[in-house]
Amino acid sequence: MDSEELREYAHKMVDFIADYYKGIETFPVLSQVQPGYLRELLPDSAPARPDSFQDVLDDIRDKIIPGVTHWQSPDYFAYYPSNSSIAGFLGEMLSAGVNVVGFSWITSPAATELETIVMDWLAKALKLPDAFLSTGHGGGVIQGTASEAVLVVLLAARDKILRKVGKDAIRRLVVYFSDQTHASLQKACKIGGIYPENIRILKTDSSTDYALSPESLSKAISQDITSGLIPFFLCATIGTTSSAAVDPLLALGKISKSNGLWFHVDAAYAGSTCICPEFRHYLDGVEEADSFNMMLHKFFLTNFDCERNALIQSLSTKPVYLENKASEENMVVDYKDWQIPLGRRFRSLKLWMVLRLYGLENLQGYVRNRVELARTFEELVKKDPRFEISATRIFSLVCFRLVPPHNDEELGNKLNHELLDAVNSTGKLFISHTVLSSKYILRFAVGAPLTEERHVFAAWEMLQEKASALLKSL
Ligand SMILES: *Cc1c(COP(=O)(O)O)cnc(C)c1O
Repeated sequence: MDSEELREYAHKMVDFIADYYKGIETFPVLSQVQPGYLRELLPDSAPARPDSFQDVLDDIRDKIIPGVTHWQSPDYFAYYPSNSSIAGFLGEMLSAGVNVVGFSWITSPAATELETIVMDWLAKALKLPDAFLSTGHGGGVIQGTASEAVLVVLLAARDKILRKVGKDAIRRLVVYFSDQTHASLQKACKIGGIYPENIRILKTDSSTDYALSPESLSKAISQDITSGLIPFFLCATIGTTSSAAVDPLLALGKISKSNGLWFHVDAAYAGSTCICPEFRHYLDGVEEADSFNMMLHKFFLTNFDCERNALIQSLSTKPVYLENKASEENMVVDYKDWQIPLGRRFRSLKLWMVLRLYGLENLQGYVRNRVELARTFEELVKKDPRFEISATRIFSLVCFRLVPPHNDEELGNKLNHELLDAVNSTGKLFISHTVLSSKYILRFAVGAPLTEERHVFAAWEMLQEKASALLKSL
């Protein structure tokens, strides 16, 4: 690695990325390539001798970018956003630059200590109870994904209860969550060895706006106890993946506590809004929780975990080749014992730089502004009698659909599916869908940092235009 060479190429790469952002609106938001397109364009095997940097850049522009769906486009409204920011970008660059593998404190003291500090900063920004801080029984850790966070929490909870009731009881352990909970929980149950017949997926409906009802949880727990099973884990969600529904934490937490369940709160998407005082009440009841995870803007992959001892007891390993004085004397945190992989990146640099270069007030302003744009879109939908809102909007996600003509739900589902395909194939915007109460619903999630009001208006115009054409053709 030659420093001067790095300087030259890295500058070119930064120029390339800056130009990419400048021209991002000229690309179709949703990539329009066909499956297998790249195999036709690239050679069968790796080059024996080095290609030039310029040739690689040309190929990125001509062959790779056409196969990219532009998550950073201001016209991107699908799934949930994945934000990038200049501060985050710089932090990522620095993290790649120092490229440490910080599994134990000694492998890079700053990587461990900065992570502990910024996790506490974030916990305080969210006004989480003191128990979640590293100075209490808790402390946060940055996992690779929300799915990993949920898995390690489930493993910690499982092993904690098994230490009490005996290993053989695993076939009697019962997990509870709602039909709106992210699919990562089902995967975690599979990996965690929970018996499939002991997974209770509790039904929700429009009467609670797809939130988990405490009564149905209580009922399920009582039935399971009567059958000799051991209820041990509940996952509630703040901002479900389908419709951004909010489960009632306080009531669910009380039921968990009185029945000895581990209570986890998944706030992957909506957790970041709770840095704003006007949204913080959605987290009321988190003081009943044993663990909590979020992704700051679904990008900074920032997860918390409370009650660190259960986690460490589940995941700690002590191979001889990693022995060192600081670890032996229990003077330090070794994050390898808080996660599945051994190796870990210096991700806290990214979060630290974001928090410092923007400050909490600007981050709050950013969240408010996205929510405001979603409200604008919602108002537009409400004004057009051909459309309806399909779930209460709380954050920056609007669920809506074309009203089925002649109350024909089947035709309604078909029409809305066609409308989605029609707008996405223009390349002018990208939205996604879900199904709620057997109805095909369109999702409009505002969150890309470059999105302005004009993009929301343009998206709505395109939706109206395509809807008119579809309705006319009936
Ligand atoms: C996106 C999402 C996840 C999964 O995120 P990954 O990091 O991709 O695993 C989990 N829970 C909720 C509520 C989500 O919205």
